[in-house]
Amino acid sequence: MVKSILLFGSRGQVGRALQRTLAPVAPLVMPARADADLANLSSLCRLIRSTKPGLIVNAAAYTAVDRAEAEPDLAWRVNADAPGAMGEEARRLGIPLLHYSTDYVFDGSKATPYVETDEPNPLSSYGRSKLGGERAIRDSAAYGAILRTSWVFGETGANFVQTILRLAAERETLRVVSDQIGAPTPAALIAEVSARVIVMLESEGWPAGELYHLASCRSISWHGFARTIVEKAWQHGMASRLRPEAIEPIDSKDYPTAARRPLNSRLDCGKLETRFTLELPDWEPYLERVVSGCASTL
Ligand code: NDP
Repeated sequence: MVKSILLFGSRGQVGRALQRTLAPVAPLVMPARADADLANLSSLCRLIRSTKPGLIVNAAAYTAVDRAEAEPDLAWRVNADAPGAMGEEARRLGIPLLHYSTDYVFDGSKATPYVETDEPNPLSSYGRSKLGGERAIRDSAAYGAILRTSWVFGETGANFVQTILRLAAERETLRVVSDQIGAPTPAALIAEVSARVIVMLESEGWPAGELYHLASCRSISWHGFARTIVEKAWQHGMASRLRPEAIEPIDSKDYPTAARRPLNSRLDCGKLETRFTLELPDWEPYLERVVSGCASTL
């Protein structure tokens, strides 16, 4: 039984879902953002030392991928230095650290899904900072696990599903990139799997910073995902203007963004599935729940 879990980023997409799945596992300590600014390393370390948790779960991150191009130092402090400091404190306290990373550590040039041993080569400041976090945790020699995930969506937060639902009610046409392929991954699924990982590793022993890929089992392009979201929006009476077939597929080169993104974001999750005896599901039932939940609040 875990004594207590210090959860960072509890107000984010994954953090909110973790509040639900980790509550039965152990008492949760969820510091307010003002008391746990990851850009302030000394106060972060003080907080961990005074809390003395049984486990640290870090769902906080600088996630503004395009803005990170203009703020690389802040992204690095939050995504690389802070997880490194958490690792140091965790090792000192003799407790494990569960952390999240991203498919954006890869450049997307591989033809098949990425496995954990593939060489990262981030294309963006965000991706470099997240890779920096993975390496800082590894260098801290803390026990724990790092779950790399992709294309997170949920009921709340600034995610692709919420953006497309809004546009479906406002616009008649939309252009969405069709050459980036990945697996949309529900925050709820990440939180369910995280709870399983924690319970199993608590009883069997934590590894030293083991990496696992965690994504839902079906890949699609952003364009295909947008069409599915809009189809569901019509089914639930949420779309009033945009028809799914009016969404035009375009190439990434025709939709310039500050940060470059990998074309292939697919993660091979076989290592996680084997280790924790689970089968990662399709994202579609989760999307159905998110859209019907949004429709019921209209
Ligand atoms: P969100 O952006 O929804 O939430 C991030 C959380 O981090 C928020 O609670 C935010 O606080 C907090 N945070 C940001 N900056 C700081 C800071 N300086 N000090 C303290 N807290 C801070 O992220 P997700 O839930 O989507 O992401 C969870 C994890 O998954 C992250 O590690 C992310 O890199 C990774 N990931 C996310 C993907 C995605 O598509 N979103 C894809 C792949 C991986 P506040 O609410 O106050 O701003």
